[in-house]
Amino acid sequence: MNLTQYVNTFGGLMRARHGCKVHKVSINAAFTCPNRDSTKGIGGCTFCNNASFNPNTRRIPGVEEQVRAGQAVVGRQMNARRFIAYFQAYTNTYGDVGTLAALYDSALSVPGVIGLSVGTRPDCVPDAVLDLLASYRDRGYEVWLELGLQSASDAVLRRVNRGHDVACYRDAMKRARRRGLQVCTHLIVGLPGEAPEASLGAAQLAIEQGTDGLKLHPLHVVKGTRMAREWKQGQVPVLSQSEYVDIVCSIIRAAPEDLSFHRLTGTASRELLLAPDWCAHKWSVLNLIGDRLAGQAAGESAIVGNSSRRIEVSPIICRG
Ligand code: SF4
Repeated sequence: MNLTQYVNTFGGLMRARHGCKVHKVSINAAFTCPNRDSTKGIGGCTFCNNASFNPNTRRIPGVEEQVRAGQAVVGRQMNARRFIAYFQAYTNTYGDVGTLAALYDSALSVPGVIGLSVGTRPDCVPDAVLDLLASYRDRGYEVWLELGLQSASDAVLRRVNRGHDVACYRDAMKRARRRGLQVCTHLIVGLPGEAPEASLGAAQLAIEQGTDGLKLHPLHVVKGTRMAREWKQGQVPVLSQSEYVDIVCSIIRAAPEDLSFHRLTGTASRELLLAPDWCAHKWSVLNLIGDRLAGQAAGESAIVGNSSRRIEVSPIICRG
């Protein structure tokens, strides 16, 4: 099963655009987060333990060194030659513009790095930061702004202590789009207080606001978080694998052809992951998503084939 036959993946988009595989190299630039240092809130999002996102970069000093180390690993494993520096941990626009520019420049100075992907919160992208990112784009770099929306419900955002609302995301999107920046929106499926189907609505909202990409992952409970305590007290139900696959397939099928999916599932290390267990098996989840999409496409073909009328079916398009 080849998932890219049914999904416009980020990897496929990069290959089409740049003529070869392009890999992200994760960077921990030692930022913090305004939702942790009391600027926006304290304690952070209830699901957040950043060590579960990228544990491997913590001991490596310096952005340039991290990029080179990541290149060495990915290059060896995947025969990769081009890379995007992915500023992943915490809030990667949380600093003055001069400091940010120095960090981004450092990553881009490494041969083979063709762009930046910058993960951040929608309440942490002032115009000056967006202008900075647009300036890299104007110099020919591949630039992505990754905005964490997570849910389209203000009540749910409050419940997980996000410290921003949906209006804030709309505003950030408007200003990013005005500058022509590519945006990838992050969503978590299965947050407490909302049905998994709500993520389809969140995806539609992001699409209406002009997002170019989506990054999806299931809510997974990890050690060292407030949500871990709530889960142990029975206050946080987690999705079944089947529920998750259902909603991801619905989002993929509802998405416009040119929207790229940067991630379809996510997990944490076994040492940190508490629930759900199936999250630990990324390839099994991806295979199920692919199988489900293939089955749906085949079902549509069969219906059309049996029809006396000739119907033009819009299949799930592979853009890669
Ligand atoms: S998920 Fe992001 S915004 Fe929330 S506490 Fe963690 S670093 Fe901060």
